[in-house]
Amino acid sequence: MEIPSSKTLYTFQTFETNGGARIFRIPMKVFPDLWAYAYLVLVDGSIVLIDTGSGFGDSNAHIEAGFEQASRAAGRTIRIEDLTHILITHGHIDHFGGLIFLRERTNASIGIHELDLGILTSYEERVAIAENRLKAYLVEAGVPEDKREGILDMYRLNKMLSHSVRVDFTYEAKGMRLGSFDMLHVAGHCAGHVVIRLHNILFSGDHVLGRITPHQSPERLTLYTGLGHYLDSLALLEKWAGDLSLTLAGHDDPIPNLPARLAGIRQAHADRLKLILEFLTEPHTIAEVSEELFGSVNGYDTLLAIEEAGAHVEYLHQRGWLCIVNVDELESNDGPVVTRYRCINDPFAKEVKLI
Ligand SMILES: [Zn+2]
Ligand SMILES: [Zn+2]
Repeated sequence: MEIPSSKTLYTFQTFETNGGARIFRIPMKVFPDLWAYAYLVLVDGSIVLIDTGSGFGDSNAHIEAGFEQASRAAGRTIRIEDLTHILITHGHIDHFGGLIFLRERTNASIGIHELDLGILTSYEERVAIAENRLKAYLVEAGVPEDKREGILDMYRLNKMLSHSVRVDFTYEAKGMRLGSFDMLHVAGHCAGHVVIRLHNILFSGDHVLGRITPHQSPERLTLYTGLGHYLDSLALLEKWAGDLSLTLAGHDDPIPNLPARLAGIRQAHADRLKLILEFLTEPHTIAEVSEELFGSVNGYDTLLAIEEAGAHVEYLHQRGWLCIVNVDELESNDGPVVTRYRCINDPFAKEVKLI
């Protein structure tokens, strides 16, 4: 198996909770430039897999290799066929795409939060809706036409990566609890994102990552996402988490000190919001904000950068920090219009509390 250069990142590892559950961390190459983890958990006679990789490239083979490593580590054979449950943290393909492969191999009961259920069970419909919204959004964001087509072509690849799959239960319907697992709904990075607590260990999916701030995209594209929901969910998690020894994320290193990491993520967003306010003392489009924040980026990063910039601009605009300077153009056009934002107040005239 191909292992990245870092010594601890993306290697097989084992953990144990204070309640005696065993956890095996399975590294998977989910896309050419992206690695992720699934977690195999043995608890109370159940065999549970948290997230499944993308189903793309080597991802499924890496899950199989992970089960072999887990069997050696546990001193007993653990097969995919033996899984009792598969818990999906959120409806992004690098976390649920492996379900197509796993569904053929196991009768494990598959769970996801209500708000991401449709992504799994009506995949084709969700991709079509998202593509339509994205088309209009890229115009409004001021992305030039030649670049827009490239971004949409990349987005359309999603259609080929997965298809609808049956789900057996949803978390709210189960009272956000399954055996010893407790779930908390943390909307923001994805509409139906949950974090999952087992004894003194938290599985954070992409809600909290150790090295980078989790990706944000505007609620304009998908209801229940957006930076406002995300920051609210960080606060919810902080209250709910209690005494944890470790947080295991969908990517990156384990997080030993969750409150410190939450503070770091919050600060990174506050810094970014201030930078944007400063830049928007002159009117600019979201594409120009993206270029100011992230420079010139290529490939799929172009879409990620435009979404990240747009999430922050949307947050500021929703809360009255920004106005649109070309309202007359919005009024005189039926279709989407390139939108220019400007800061309403001088952000440095007073002490700002952005988040
Ligand atoms: Zn995600
Ligand atoms: Zn992810």
